[in-house]
Amino acid sequence: MKIAVVGTGYVGLVTGTCFAETGNHVVCVDIDASKVARMQRGEIPIYEPHLDVLFERNIKQGRLSFTTDLSEGIRDAQIIFLALPTPPGEDGSADLKYVLQVAGQLGGLMRDYKIIVNKSTVPVGTAEKVRTAIAEKATTEFDVVSNPEFLREGFAVDDFMKPDRVVIGTSSERARKLMAELYAPFVRQGNPIYFMDERSSELTKYAANAFLAMKITFMNEIANLCEKVGANVDAVRIGIGADDRIGKRFLFAGIGYGGSCFPKDVQALEKIAEDARYDFRSLDAVMAVNEDQKLSLIRKVKGLFPEGLRGKKVAMWGLAFKPDTDDIREAPSLYMIEALLREGASVSAFDPEAMENVRKQIGDKIQYGKDEYDVLDGADFLIIATEWAVFRTPDFERMARSMKAKLIFDGRNLYDLNSIRERGFTYYSIGREPVL
Ligand code: NAD
Repeated sequence: MKIAVVGTGYVGLVTGTCFAETGNHVVCVDIDASKVARMQRGEIPIYEPHLDVLFERNIKQGRLSFTTDLSEGIRDAQIIFLALPTPPGEDGSADLKYVLQVAGQLGGLMRDYKIIVNKSTVPVGTAEKVRTAIAEKATTEFDVVSNPEFLREGFAVDDFMKPDRVVIGTSSERARKLMAELYAPFVRQGNPIYFMDERSSELTKYAANAFLAMKITFMNEIANLCEKVGANVDAVRIGIGADDRIGKRFLFAGIGYGGSCFPKDVQALEKIAEDARYDFRSLDAVMAVNEDQKLSLIRKVKGLFPEGLRGKKVAMWGLAFKPDTDDIREAPSLYMIEALLREGASVSAFDPEAMENVRKQIGDKIQYGKDEYDVLDGADFLIIATEWAVFRTPDFERMARSMKAKLIFDGRNLYDLNSIRERGFTYYSIGREPVL
């Protein structure tokens, strides 16, 4: 099939590349000329494991190309995917300006029947809005389909190639047939494609993300309680995860959820509920607890240094909002950095992939290390903000030699309490007794 993907970010680039991988011809359209120029030179603009191999292969075999020209990009496409940003607007609702702007342009550009598929995470009723925006100038038949994306950054290629499920919202039989054909190679192991109405499909995405955010938040509150009552959140996690109604995944306590999706999607769902005059009380609690959790580690730091942090040298491991991505949107690390700098501390950080993005955002307000040991030199303490695999079994002796004090604040519970005790570190983590 011939496909266009408009918006070539984390979702669009993975979508385009994976559809090319199954033999489709894909043109990716993006408004960012420098990004498109890089991709045309064969450079991949984001870090996402395993994407590079597919990206290079499909460019080489002529199935994947890039342009800034929307008209050229969609000319031959039977299906046009919109993978555009839907950031929070001032009132917390998803801002549809990117989606509706492109939809408005598409109407005047389409010369034959096309399916416009919304892959962006959008409020209930957006399919109708997109349809209206296209119809204003359209001279051909078209269908608008909702197809929310569930991929996780860090596992995006795997998630896209072998999705748990594909959700497609459409009331058009013609669109349904083509979408089923397009996705058939991705569900060969029998995973389902769920067809439903557009509104339910749109809400499914928000419900999924809000539920996951709630699961994390619940565990963070259990962790906070563990600290008060002398229990260990890891033991509790294992204890409850064995119940398959609860499940083992997504039960790790930490320093709050971040990233480009959970914070904005929980907020947007709350706004959807508000507009529908429904008081979604549990979502309010999720947001409030998460705000608090982002600085829970900093509160522990401040508790240990009642005289303040002025002049303290802080090492930080991890900047990305989670491992295996260079995405720093809403990363807890950034909230902690802001708080530390405000207190007069200096921060020296290392992240395997995200330092360039942080530098673009905050420049030289912090120092950047060449590896995880480099930042420890003379540090008063270490904060662990992201659970990159490389931080899991460090050389503790080398750490001890570099640091001013053997003091770690771990927001991701990377280390076993006994082994850290044996090594003589003072260690604060989440929902577990401190090692003093
Ligand atoms: P992103 O910011 O990484 O990428 C968006 C891209 O769209 C950028 O490259 C930008 O230059 C481009 N763009 C903006 N305006 C444009 C225009 N008028 N024409 C062409 N290109 C334009 O965003 P993302 O993380 O890929 O997210 C896209 C959507 O997918 C959002 O709605 C998000 O909520 C949703 N989503 C994201 C993830 C994720 O893990 N990142 C997962 C599932 C769903």
